[in-house]
Amino acid sequence: MSIEERLVKIQAAYVGNLSAQRLQEIREWIEKIEVIKNQKNAVLLGHNYMTPEVFFGVSDITGDSLELARKSAQAKADIIVFNGVHFMAETAKILNPSAKVLIADSTAGCSLAESITPEDVRDLRQKHPGVPIVSYINCTAAVKAEVDVICTSANAFHIVEALPGNEVVMVPDGYLAGNVAKTSKKVIHAWPGKCMVHELFTPRDVEEARLRFPQVKIIAHPECKSNVTDKVDFTGSTSRMSSYIEETHPEQVLLFTECSMGDNLRAEHPGVEFVPSCQSCPYMKKITLEKIYDALLYEKDEVTVPDNVREGALHSLQAMFDLSKV
Ligand code: SF4
Repeated sequence: MSIEERLVKIQAAYVGNLSAQRLQEIREWIEKIEVIKNQKNAVLLGHNYMTPEVFFGVSDITGDSLELARKSAQAKADIIVFNGVHFMAETAKILNPSAKVLIADSTAGCSLAESITPEDVRDLRQKHPGVPIVSYINCTAAVKAEVDVICTSANAFHIVEALPGNEVVMVPDGYLAGNVAKTSKKVIHAWPGKCMVHELFTPRDVEEARLRFPQVKIIAHPECKSNVTDKVDFTGSTSRMSSYIEETHPEQVLLFTECSMGDNLRAEHPGVEFVPSCQSCPYMKKITLEKIYDALLYEKDEVTVPDNVREGALHSLQAMFDLSKV
């Protein structure tokens, strides 16, 4: 995409509300990042929750955290700049050990990843001997190294069902576990971690939206509480939200997820009205064009994973890839 085309997308994502001055600033940052990216043979990854200027402006590959990590493994780049939060950059490093992985702000964390430690996982193993432990991908590399298998919001149900036995321990997202439990017959021992963004949506939000917008299709992320997902039209991961809109062509949608996801989808689906109702992730919003430029220029905030941790974490990720084929 030319810079001009990217700016059109960014303006569409913001419903045409960007001033000429802000648009010019964005253009200048994109141009500067483009030059240094080519000089350093870098590839920039952009999570779906990045602001439109990061998502459309400078990201070579976009998607959810796992898609990005997997696609980056095929990229022939010396440097990967992960525009997302820290655990995602760690996952990219686990899958691409030879690349230098940078993050524009190393304090871009995640309430789910911070809710559990490797010691907590070891305690759970003692408490539930022989029961497989599955972790949502939103966890640190050190936690990935302790569990048996990883899952994503897109494959969580499938992974739980594919594991042996009638019980499973799920960490760290208690709400994702609750959503899996709605259709699984297994006993699920859930860790009570929460996404600070998705936990804010309530059943009352659904009721009020339906009163105000009778035609609206409400789409929720499975990190929302199950009493919310019970009431919406569709629940799915960020990539499934996008395919749901593509396949069903709703006239009006309302997303219960992070704000930039809706902004970016708006630019991709000009015929769909996106009713505003979202929550912003303060961690994702730490990633800005200015900081991306600095990260590339100074090659700072490198993300590293110790070899012994990487080995265990890779094992859990590989177990997910293997079970996904079952
Ligand atoms: S949106 Fe939630 S799950 Fe995603 S990074 Fe922010 S706190 Fe973590």
